[in-house]
Amino acid sequence: MPRRTTFGLTLLAAALAAGGPPWLALQEARRQAYEGEAGLAMNYARDVLHRSDETSRQALEAIALLERTGLASCTAAARARMREIDLTSSYIQAIGHLSGDTIECSSQGGPPVPLGDPSFRSSRGIALYDVVPLVEGGPNPLLGLARDDVIVLVHRDLPLDIWTAVPGVSLAIVHLERHRFTMARGPVDPAWLDRLGNRNDTTFIAGGRLVTIVRSQRYVTMAAVAAVPVRALQERIRAATRRLIPAGLFGGLAAAAAILLLARQQMSMAASLRHGLRRGEFFLLYQPLVDLRSGACIGAEALLRWRRPTGELVGPDLFIPVAEQSGLITRVTARVLDLVERDAGEFLARHPGFHIGINLSPADLHSDAIVRRIDVLLERTRARPASLLVEITERGFLHLDAARPVVAALRARGVEVAIDDFGTGYSSLSYLETLDLDFLKIDRSFIEAIGTGAPTRQVVGHIMAMARTLDLKMIAEGVESEAQADFLRAHGVLFAQGWLFGRPMPFADVARMAADARASAA
Ligand code: C2E
Ligand code: CA
Ligand code: CA
Repeated sequence: MPRRTTFGLTLLAAALAAGGPPWLALQEARRQAYEGEAGLAMNYARDVLHRSDETSRQALEAIALLERTGLASCTAAARARMREIDLTSSYIQAIGHLSGDTIECSSQGGPPVPLGDPSFRSSRGIALYDVVPLVEGGPNPLLGLARDDVIVLVHRDLPLDIWTAVPGVSLAIVHLERHRFTMARGPVDPAWLDRLGNRNDTTFIAGGRLVTIVRSQRYVTMAAVAAVPVRALQERIRAATRRLIPAGLFGGLAAAAAILLLARQQMSMAASLRHGLRRGEFFLLYQPLVDLRSGACIGAEALLRWRRPTGELVGPDLFIPVAEQSGLITRVTARVLDLVERDAGEFLARHPGFHIGINLSPADLHSDAIVRRIDVLLERTRARPASLLVEITERGFLHLDAARPVVAALRARGVEVAIDDFGTGYSSLSYLETLDLDFLKIDRSFIEAIGTGAPTRQVVGHIMAMARTLDLKMIAEGVESEAQADFLRAHGVLFAQGWLFGRPMPFADVARMAADARASAA
């Protein structure tokens, strides 16, 4: 990727990381505030509904009581019964006897009260009188609920008389068949009622208010409404924002800083790699490769090391990924081949049976430059092509169409090819079958698991079976114990490397090991 693009993408990622958490905090503040305010409105509506239900219950019970005694009249006994009922129910103001549309007598005494027509009659035979001036000109007109010839009078405001923490809350009770509020405190809009539909409750914002409507479970045609001014919601959002935004901002800035720092480190590591290549700061160590049957050293894997000018030794696990990402890897690989030529060229010419393993990265397989560089090496050193063993990880075979001609060209020269770190990547039998390879290197992680309880311990068996199917010779990596070596030997693995046989070392030491092996065999 060109450096300008990388830089642009990094800045974009940092900007997104910086903006993301504050944006999330804002959304969260809105959500929390809405839920808080909706919860409050719901509580108010439930309180009102509870009182309304209780009023209805006491009213209907009173009517039933009076009717059951057969005293629905104005006799002295009936009026005594009325007073008794009135006294025992907390929500009822009075109970009386209706004759036509006139209250003939009531528990409150006084002259008959003409009512006129009821303002609403429910499907269950309850007539509603919105304004009943029981005491002529009295301060609080009452509400009348009548069935047959009994009327119960209740206080208009009592069910709505709840305490609210937020000022300006509207409260109302509605008979849903009537589509008009039976009792209301504060501004309400009948259009809200359409939003309830068949639901038991609903909450929405309308007309500058957060409105909640709750249907009674006891009297399903009754519902209560509570509407909180949106102002209260906005205040709550502001409070939640004040609480959440600092954390969001801090998180965003920390994430952006981390991205920029990482990118800067990567960029400066890439720059140092470039310097390091120019100043010759790289060298190779060689890890012996042994024949498991004889124990003889028959080759070595070239492993790259970087000695920084500070003296610090950097491992390939750190700098190879940076070289791959910054497009420097082909130059790094070219350097490895230079170093192999310098360290081992002469030895390879004299010992045709010796192998040098060379690690290639995926990008090395995207052009035939690597083939030409290997040709140069073979020509200059007069080494046998089969002395070179290129190691390609499963990642390298991901772009199969690009890799295939390079692999074919190398094998056509007699160079040997191994699939490296086998089992750790994306290998599938189907694509491996289409490639002609020589060796399979079983990754250290599977060798480690041999003889342990690790869940991967079974995998090594499958890998060995796969190698046999594909007719690949096996090399085991990271062998550290005799037990592992015995196991591998018993399962037909021919070659191995690992600390049991030798750590990565200067080439002169490997050459000595190989010479010793030959001497003892002779
Ligand atoms: P790899 O190809 O799997 O190399 C084997 C790694 O395992 C080496 O680490 C080696 O030192 C380590 N090792 C060998 N035997 C043992 C053992 O018995 N026990 C333990 N614990 N470790 C063992 P190293 O040298 O740090 O290399 C790490 C990786 O870096 C290599 O893994 C390879 O993928 C990459 N690498 C190294 N040199 C080059 C290079 O020149 N070019 C490219 N493209 N990649 C390289
Ligand atoms: Ca390797
Ligand atoms: Ca490995």
